[in-house]
Amino acid sequence: MSHADVVIVGAGPAGAATAILLAEHGLGVTVLDRGPRTRPKVCGEYLSPEAGRVLDRLGVLKAVDAGGAAALAGMRITAPDGTVLDARYGAVGAFRPYRDHAMGVSRAALDGALLERVRALPVDLREGVRVTDVIVEHGRVVGVRAAEVTGAVVAVRARVVIAADGRASVIAHRLRCRRPHPLARMALVTYVTGVRDCRDVGEIFVDPPDYAILNPLAPDRINLSLVVPLAHAAAWRARLEDFFVARIKQLPHLSRRLAGAGRVAPLSSLGPLAYRVVPPREGGVLLVGDAAGFYDPFTGEGIFTALRSAELAADAVLGALRAGDVSAAALAVYHRARRAAFADKERLTRVLQTVIGRRRLANLVAHWLAARPRVLAALLGVIGDYVPPRALPRLLLS
Ligand SMILES: Cc1cc2nc3c(=O)[nH]c(=O)nc-3n(C[C@H](O)[C@H](O)[C@H](O)COP(=O)(O)OP(=O)(O)OC[C@H]3O[C@@H](n4cnc5c(N)ncnc54)[C@H](O)[C@@H]3O)c2cc1C
Repeated sequence: MSHADVVIVGAGPAGAATAILLAEHGLGVTVLDRGPRTRPKVCGEYLSPEAGRVLDRLGVLKAVDAGGAAALAGMRITAPDGTVLDARYGAVGAFRPYRDHAMGVSRAALDGALLERVRALPVDLREGVRVTDVIVEHGRVVGVRAAEVTGAVVAVRARVVIAADGRASVIAHRLRCRRPHPLARMALVTYVTGVRDCRDVGEIFVDPPDYAILNPLAPDRINLSLVVPLAHAAAWRARLEDFFVARIKQLPHLSRRLAGAGRVAPLSSLGPLAYRVVPPREGGVLLVGDAAGFYDPFTGEGIFTALRSAELAADAVLGALRAGDVSAAALAVYHRARRAAFADKERLTRVLQTVIGRRRLANLVAHWLAARPRVLAALLGVIGDYVPPRALPRLLLS
């Protein structure tokens, strides 16, 4: 049995970022990951401008840039009736993006750069270790049980356990924090090449009940993500490839955009996408990144949320360990900080979901925004995580 200050389960963006921040403060950190990953991560691979700020703080932004991340100057959104909204990242009133672009970056490159930084620090990183359970004593999580590749079962005890084990979080399940979500959607993701002038903006095609995203990662590799109601895909479970091809044909603006393009990867799928997670009642544990819940990839903020929640979790853990109190009450500071950081954006995302789910409403809103470029720029700033949603009304009136 080993003992650490903090054990982090999962070395994705949330876990790696938390490990980097805590190790930089001199804590004894153990990271357990069941990887290395054998299948590609299902993800749109868009990173908001504000995610660049956190990556810079973590010391990995240069490596991500050097690894060939595509600079995305803005977003182009095509409404069901073909109305096109074109917006660029830039200053909105007093709010400026960390950099004037978002990024298209493969998950292999992003996750690899974060792991390299973890390896450069005095962190006990153990790959090929699958966590199977949490150890709870007197209402407090005091460690985890895990299976090594050899089949050996080990226990790792720590003063704090960070669950960064993604959407299928064993820890969230074991602590009974996971709840279903009524929004039942499925994502179908592949890569294409040969899409004309698809280099420096992300493109979204809204066509209720579906939407699709083209995210350029490299000149010959564009992430194509199609999101559909889960119920529509369910009947085709055994023939998802046929379903995908037929469905793309039904999205006329996307279909035209893909004329002459070729597929360069097999199809991956994931669904349902949304679920809720409530904070654990036990002390000694925090949930970060997807382990703490996921809504929908439309506004592409999962990785930013993972990185930002890692910053908030690291602050909470440092404070709790300094005070010698890792009770649920002491760690609740993290849940409050998380709510303050994300609740407004979540509300806005829910409003956007209502809009993109209704054809007439989506067209109406697109027409309204097309005539108001300043409002559109402010909205892109919110989606890009550098304009606080609360500032929207004031910006719109100024
Ligand atoms: C279809 C789709 C498209 C998306 N597109 C975008 C996008 O364009 N931009 C964006 O920002 N976000 C996007 N997201 C969200 C984004 O992928 C996630 O929010 C992000 O990966 C969360 O990071 P994480 O570190 O919390 O989890 P993960 O990246 O899932 O990492 C979890 C880690 O935990 C490890 N692990 C899991 N279980 C165990 C275990 N039992 N024991 C040990 N290790 C374990 C895994 O190996 C993995 O390394 C999308 C999501 C979906 C579903």
